Amino acid sequence: MTSTASRTRDYIDLHDRYGAHNYKPLPVVIEKAEGVWVEDVDGRRYMDMLAAYSAVNQGHRHPKLLAAMRAQLDRCTLTSRAFHNDQLPRFVERIAGLTGLDAVLPMNSGTEAVETAVKAARKWGYEVKGVAPDRAEIICVENNFHGRTITVVSFSTDAQYRDGFGPFTPGFTLVPYGDADALANAITENTVGFLVEPIQAEGGVIVPPDGYLKRVESILREHNVLFMVDEIQTGLGRCGHMWAHQHEGVSPDVVVMGKALSGGFYPVSAVAARREVMDVFRPGDHGSTFGGNPLGCAVALAALDVIEEEGLVERSARLGDAFRARLAKLESPFVKEIRGRGLLTGVEVTDDIGNAYPFCKRLMDEGVLCKDTHDTAIRFAPPLVITDQELDWALERIERVLMADPRG
Ligand SMILES: *Cc1c(COP(=O)(O)O)cnc(C)c1O
Repeated sequence: MTSTASRTRDYIDLHDRYGAHNYKPLPVVIEKAEGVWVEDVDGRRYMDMLAAYSAVNQGHRHPKLLAAMRAQLDRCTLTSRAFHNDQLPRFVERIAGLTGLDAVLPMNSGTEAVETAVKAARKWGYEVKGVAPDRAEIICVENNFHGRTITVVSFSTDAQYRDGFGPFTPGFTLVPYGDADALANAITENTVGFLVEPIQAEGGVIVPPDGYLKRVESILREHNVLFMVDEIQTGLGRCGHMWAHQHEGVSPDVVVMGKALSGGFYPVSAVAARREVMDVFRPGDHGSTFGGNPLGCAVALAALDVIEEEGLVERSARLGDAFRARLAKLESPFVKEIRGRGLLTGVEVTDDIGNAYPFCKRLMDEGVLCKDTHDTAIRFAPPLVITDQELDWALERIERVLMADPRG
């Protein structure tokens, strides 16, 4: 194993001393990045196969995004929503077109956009559906990940996300993921929305059974319940479609997005919804100082251009299939299952190995950065700009690591 060189150690020690310990990062300190490659403070190069949890689908520091960001920095960065700016109108038009929905509300972090969707669904429930005051219920699924605020962890089933953070926000019901009957049975007259990830990324790259979203859609229509998808990680090409829900051709009422919306330059998130839903927000009902700022909108418009101009959606579909096909041939005694869509892949390690971290550590030593997710799966999610040759380079190393006993 490589020994940890001194600059790396110094930075890690400094952070350990003054930083909050709410993460357990791999022991690598990155100082430079370009495309699919990153370089650490001791001059080692790695391929980034996590892509900041899919926030850098366009690759690190994409030149077009860099240029758009610089140009906007020279014009105007923040106006607040007290005034209009010249970038936001084009941003909302673009997102509406991309989602097929009518109206768009910009925020910053993904979690804020999820909160926005929850607020919209509740108010729609009262004003449009006619649910009695303060009785609205939203159905979510087990093993979800939608963020970390108190309301959002109120519907998490991960004990660690909740432990010590109560009391929680009421009004959420949980059903198993992939089980449309359970959803149908959980709906009451107070149900206003159903919030779901088309693929559970943080949950371990869990792909629901074929036809699940289709059945969900028809159940929700029948009961006049909003169909809300969290595409923050799965959207924008990651899963081989612009939106992962397009795999089943469904039409959600609300789409939540973030992460790659700005290609890693700046936090930009948004909620797109049908007009009837979005119009429950009237002036003063909801807002954000930075949400919809011209810098974020300009970089997001360029980030969407890159996805379209460089054919990243098709690239993700083609390379993702090739990646999983090659891993499937490996027949490693330490791999239990390989799942995913597009360039989002989860490799579940066997029960007797039980922990994906040692593989990630070895991959790091081989020059491939990725992260264990939900303890027992290795997630591979490289920037979508990765070339065939770069993917081969990674696969050689991944194959070597997956064939070796991590305990030995
Ligand atoms: C990352 C993520 C979020 C939270 O986004 P932040 O920008 O970290 O607040 C919510 N939902 C999903 C599916 C995510 O992957």
